[in-house]
Amino acid sequence: MSAAIGTPFGLFIGGREIPSSDGQQITLLNPATNRPLAEAAVGRVADAHHALEVADRAFRESGWAGGDGAQRTKALYRLSRLLEEQAAAFAELESLNMGKPLRESKGDIDFVVRTLEYMAGLADKIEGETIPIPGARFDYTIREPLGVTVHIAPWNYPLLLAVRSVAPALAAGNAVVLKPASLTPLTALRFAQLAHDAGIPDGILNVVVGSGREVGEALITDARCASVSFTGSGEVGRRIAELAAARLIPTVLELGGKSPVIVFPDADLERAARAIATGIFQNSGQMCWAGSRLVVEAGVEAALLEKLRAAAQGLKLGPGIEAGVTMGPLVSKDQMTRVLGFVDEAREAGARIFLGGGRPAAPELQEGNFVEPTVVTDVDPDARLVREEVFGPVLAVHRFESADEALRLANRTRFGLFASLWTRDLATAHGVARQLEAGMVTINEPPMTFPQTPFGGYKESGLGSEQGRDAPLAYTRRKNVIVNVGAAKPKK
Ligand code: NAD
Repeated sequence: MSAAIGTPFGLFIGGREIPSSDGQQITLLNPATNRPLAEAAVGRVADAHHALEVADRAFRESGWAGGDGAQRTKALYRLSRLLEEQAAAFAELESLNMGKPLRESKGDIDFVVRTLEYMAGLADKIEGETIPIPGARFDYTIREPLGVTVHIAPWNYPLLLAVRSVAPALAAGNAVVLKPASLTPLTALRFAQLAHDAGIPDGILNVVVGSGREVGEALITDARCASVSFTGSGEVGRRIAELAAARLIPTVLELGGKSPVIVFPDADLERAARAIATGIFQNSGQMCWAGSRLVVEAGVEAALLEKLRAAAQGLKLGPGIEAGVTMGPLVSKDQMTRVLGFVDEAREAGARIFLGGGRPAAPELQEGNFVEPTVVTDVDPDARLVREEVFGPVLAVHRFESADEALRLANRTRFGLFASLWTRDLATAHGVARQLEAGMVTINEPPMTFPQTPFGGYKESGLGSEQGRDAPLAYTRRKNVIVNVGAAKPKK
């Protein structure tokens, strides 16, 4: 069967698309139908090394790293404009490849445009300091780019998470090698072409598709790789941290979550229910910061769950690119099997399936990787469904009697990416927000972030953070310079 997108995708190295060194390709499937979507080149170790060599040369010779940053500001801004012009095509490609509804893909591309604008604005504001020191001396610091930075991205927000980490590195003057997830490389490859069209020098942004173990590790262990930024699972994050530690290079790690949503009895239950549904069913729950544990006060549990049922029943499942669809398939068959396994295990252990719990019955959804929006109550707080990241549309519910108990339940996890809480009481809101062990908290809002707000986790959810004003600084090193200015000559 031929692929829906006829033209095969190559690797993007040195400003152009090229085949992989041994000509290997994979067939990517449309997750809504499991039929062939596109052919993409798969890189090998030789391609990883080639990309590093090209990036290293571009870093030293292209002039991208130098000057006052104005060239980078202009180029990143041009790139944001080009992407905005082509946003519809990028959103469609993202939905076809990853499965998410078009409306969500459009939101993702808007976020990428805004990230590029924001980072363009920072590229000419990477400044040093002057520091008072004793004697006839002058002290100043310089921020220098690291060199070649490596970025490894997951499949759940393919372009957004790639650019979120790549854009600040480019703004700071680095040359980049990006390895997208093998399942979802298409928008990153098209984006690299756009960067070339925007005038970013050839070799400054390279994209190598390939297996994490082979290509990812070849990139990180090479002497030319000056830092690694990784977004993905905790298991792979640990492996990357080990490899980076052996080379003493800096890392930014954005890992998994098991985020709590606390609902106090005075909350606006209508708004809370809609936000909880967004926080766990958006992107079919394939979100690092999904609000996957509901911690609700016992007296309002039944009312909230009924509202949540209504919100979930209003979702329309189907292929992401179809008009009106609000929940797409999971990214792959493996992911669907994994998610259903968590639910089956909880059911067998005595949990109650309040909503969903399996594959939807509609005949037209049988070919794709669809899972119903699912809510599980009366679940043991030590069940795997509660402890581990499911990465699917599955919400576990716990009830509490007191605020202390709510906090204990919320913080009872090795993750700490995100938490949200619902109350109309200011003292409860701010008091609980301070005590939540999470890098990001929303009060009376669903999960929410902007390019200008930091994004990062506590505990096993990661190390360092992305987005925000400081993001480019993670891709710089600081040099201190002391100058002897000589003793002032006495006036004659
Ligand atoms: P994953 O860890 O399996 O893969 C992520 C990337 O790492 C892929 O590109 C993969 O090819 C690569 N990789 C795999 N093994 C590697 C190795 N040994 N060396 C180098 N690279 C390697 O994650 P996934 O399944 O693609 O994504 C889902 C995970 O990502 C979830 O755990 C989710 O919570 C996490 N995530 C976190 C954030 C965040 O900002 N904190 C955002 C989105 C997703």
